[in-house]
Amino acid sequence: MGLFTRKEKYIRINPNRSVRRKVEREMPEVPDELFAKCPACKSAIYQKDLGPAKICPACSYHFRILAQERLDLMVDEGTFEEMFTGFATKDPLKFPNYQEKLAAIKAKTGLDEAVVTGRAKIQGQETALAIMDSNFIMASMGTVVGEKITCLFEYAIQEKLPVVIFTASGGARMQEGILSLMQMAKISAAVKCHSNAGLFYLTVLTDPTTGGVTASFAMEGDIILAEPQTLIGFAGRRVIESTVRENLPDDFQKAEFLQEHGFVDAIVKRTDLAATVGQLLNFHGGRK
Ligand SMILES: [Zn+2]
Repeated sequence: MGLFTRKEKYIRINPNRSVRRKVEREMPEVPDELFAKCPACKSAIYQKDLGPAKICPACSYHFRILAQERLDLMVDEGTFEEMFTGFATKDPLKFPNYQEKLAAIKAKTGLDEAVVTGRAKIQGQETALAIMDSNFIMASMGTVVGEKITCLFEYAIQEKLPVVIFTASGGARMQEGILSLMQMAKISAAVKCHSNAGLFYLTVLTDPTTGGVTASFAMEGDIILAEPQTLIGFAGRRVIESTVRENLPDDFQKAEFLQEHGFVDAIVKRTDLAATVGQLLNFHGGRK
């Protein structure tokens, strides 16, 4: 028996190592400005072929897009009015290099924070709107993100407007510790007041929507839409696998899996989103 045990150990040494090396070698090196590499099917795609919606022509993967690109796709031209800008974090933990990191990312992205908030028209329907941008510290939720979204809900209650939020987030912002977790409760309270006022709240989950954002306002919409293949979850896959000591299905935490299990109402292609959101706003007492 000892012999068999030893033999098995030999087989297990560095499983998949040669396969992994082969895959790495096969990945094409392409210049960023001209070509994009699809993270799903690994094809190299000429940037222009992605189109404004940035969808892979080979496998329909929806690339992550900037808040500005989302605005261009969703909002009626010239109707977006940005609001609630200029808030600054108090950096409660005096986290090393946090302020420098914020300044650098603001300069690089041109964004005020990880969420853009304001008022706009979608297919002629007035709405309060928030769009999270994963290029800004993975759209993590700190005190400023929490405050901007809360202000948006309060404004929507006052103006009797629906709220549409495009979520994308890596979760709470660890540089702000417990105060970033508190935003979950704060925004949820604002969502409840908005709901008590009889107003409509729609969330569109975009890749990736995880952590504290999923555990609060992302999943509190009256209707929850998602883009295809969006990663949606709370804890990461590896953390769950090592906790429950089980292999999870391949599509675990994907939008399609969540829809099958009743957490997402519909999966809508990016090119159909403006029409779908406009229709839903109209159906739920929209005003022009
Ligand atoms: Zn692809």
